[in-house]
Amino acid sequence: MTAVSRPLAVRQGLVVLYVTAWSREREVSRADLLLDAGGLRYRTEHTEDRDQRGGLWERWRGGYGDGDPLWRAVNSERQRIAMEHLRCQVCGGRASHTGKGVLFLEGGRMTAAAARLEEGTVAQPPLCLPCAPVARRQCPHLRRHCIALRAKKYPVWGVLGAVYAARHPRGPRPTDQLVLEHEVPVAYGTSALRYVLASQLLRELRRVTVVDLDAELRAAGLHATATGRPGPGSRPGAQPDAVSAPPSSAGPAGGRLSG
Ligand SMILES: [Zn+2]
Repeated sequence: MTAVSRPLAVRQGLVVLYVTAWSREREVSRADLLLDAGGLRYRTEHTEDRDQRGGLWERWRGGYGDGDPLWRAVNSERQRIAMEHLRCQVCGGRASHTGKGVLFLEGGRMTAAAARLEEGTVAQPPLCLPCAPVARRQCPHLRRHCIALRAKKYPVWGVLGAVYAARHPRGPRPTDQLVLEHEVPVAYGTSALRYVLASQLLRELRRVTVVDLDAELRAAGLHATATGRPGPGSRPGAQPDAVSAPPSSAGPAGGRLSG
């Protein structure tokens, strides 16, 4: 994973998150996908197609900046990179990590959400501190109620993906008619994983502490502007409209539901 020198794109006054999909990026898994008694596989598999836990991932073509942002769609390749390597979902840089753990944002009111934070699974990758206000302002599920939390333990749990029927009545090539359900959470180590085409990586959060994001921003000399973006000087070399430079994509993956 290497850094890219260009800043993140801004469209319609909004920062385009590192994990957001673009209109000219394409999920191209189906062309080479096979379904047989062993489960799902590609006719020719490359190392990046399958993770070390056995999960088979969507293949994507294109890259960040190709076309127009699809605000509510996630590029699974970049979601997988961000979640696997604990990179910021907004800028792709290193996520904030303090003595209380790694920073995540969750939607929901405190009273309802607090009970499910511990040992809950998350698809939204973590954040760096300067980018946290961007996500809080832009992501629909965070806009109304946002809980900042830090987790000391965050084991990889499983994937979100399309579950295929464990049968192949018309030859080995799976069609969309054989997809039983989309966006299903499936844990690593389960037999169901063989029939899943993964689109997002899930982590489980443990030893969770709810934190005061604004207090952390102030303590770090950062401030959220009225628009919720990090203020000028929030990070060396970063402008409010150029939050940071994303790392380049490493390998195909796939996904949905941004921010
Ligand atoms: Zn960031």
